[in-house]
Amino acid sequence: MKKETLCVQAGYTPQNGEPRVLPIVQSTTYKYDNSEQVGKLFDLEADGYFYTRLANPTCTGPEEKIAALEGGVGAMLTASGQSATQISVMNLCSSGDHMICSAAVYGGTFNLFDVTLRRMGIDVTFVDPGISEEDLAAEIRENTRLIFGETLANPALRMLDIEMFARVAHNAGIPLIVDNTFPTPVLCRPIDFGADIVVHSTSKYLDGHAVSLGGVIIDSGNFDWNNGKFPGLSEPDESYHGVVYTERFGKMAYIVKARVQLMRDLGCMASPMNAFLLNLGMETLHLRMERHSENAMKVAEYLEKHPKVLEVSYPGLASSSEYALAQKYMKDGQSGVLSFRVKGGREKAEAFMNSLKLAKIVVHVADARTGVLHPASTTHRQMSDEQLLACGIYPDMLRFSVGIENVEDIIADVEQALANL
Ligand SMILES: *Cc1c(COP(=O)(O)O)cnc(C)c1O
Repeated sequence: MKKETLCVQAGYTPQNGEPRVLPIVQSTTYKYDNSEQVGKLFDLEADGYFYTRLANPTCTGPEEKIAALEGGVGAMLTASGQSATQISVMNLCSSGDHMICSAAVYGGTFNLFDVTLRRMGIDVTFVDPGISEEDLAAEIRENTRLIFGETLANPALRMLDIEMFARVAHNAGIPLIVDNTFPTPVLCRPIDFGADIVVHSTSKYLDGHAVSLGGVIIDSGNFDWNNGKFPGLSEPDESYHGVVYTERFGKMAYIVKARVQLMRDLGCMASPMNAFLLNLGMETLHLRMERHSENAMKVAEYLEKHPKVLEVSYPGLASSSEYALAQKYMKDGQSGVLSFRVKGGREKAEAFMNSLKLAKIVVHVADARTGVLHPASTTHRQMSDEQLLACGIYPDMLRFSVGIENVEDIIADVEQALANL
């Protein structure tokens, strides 16, 4: 089936007389007839629900929908994008391991890797996403276990050359993990270009209405974990009666381990209510991404011509440094987020933001309503100026998340705010 049909229908097929819409199973637990059946579930010998921290039918719906959309073999929802990122890495790295990450990643991801995972003994090297293939390969160490990047980085809007990063990773016998939050699978499927694991903050476009936090990890099923670098997958897990994930679960090894070991231990599961809202949001994902992309392109073109605007960054603009990669990886639309710098520095940027009427100041992007943010004074305020510039963020830069309203109304709002400067 095509992506539009998957958005609407995948993940839930009612049987005779069952609800047409994915039901909310607001239950932590599940009833069984005898202890033998429960035992089989605990030994991972039978499929079924036994406790909502591990799986819930309302969560299964969007998990299967997203796996189908991304072209993966399985997926797991998490309580937030942060927990999806954390589990995606912890499923492969232990204390003493090393990873490589694009420096142009979401601020929360940067802090998670640079502070919290370092404290847990996982070392990280940040590289510019525009790094050459040779330089990237030179960063690989004997204990490097993965490479991580964002298809289209939030908020720097730098593209990741997924094929090149995947090639370097695979030559070193390690996987590439891609955060695909901004394009969504409607605009880009990283697995088609060699990514092994995909993560999302579903709090953004997948939900699409800014109503529920969430994250998801998708396993392509393509990576061979039996090369000696991933004993957690290819050797017995004593916390699960010695199960060897690659032997028992084959292509699903990574995503099953993420669930039965790490979700069991960390407990950052999505709630059934949030999974229901996510599923509802995704029913219109294909329509929304088309409109977000169209509207953002028009706003970017308008801003680019405006005399009070210093610079516009939108990967759909031919003037963008990211244009060539965007045409390769997201040719049907470049999503709804753009950034721009107004003339006159930090003060003018804040003044512009404060004069907007339709576009509201929010510490969020990627929902149906147009929103604006000044990253240097908000989401990225923990970073030094050097760290900011390394992520491609200037003090006078505004992040503009173009919604699905009528684009003429959005542009009129921008116009009056610029006129006030
Ligand atoms: C928001 C975001 C995250 C973190 O997701 P939460 O759901 O807020 O925890 C991770 N990656 C990207 C690209 C994001 O935009």
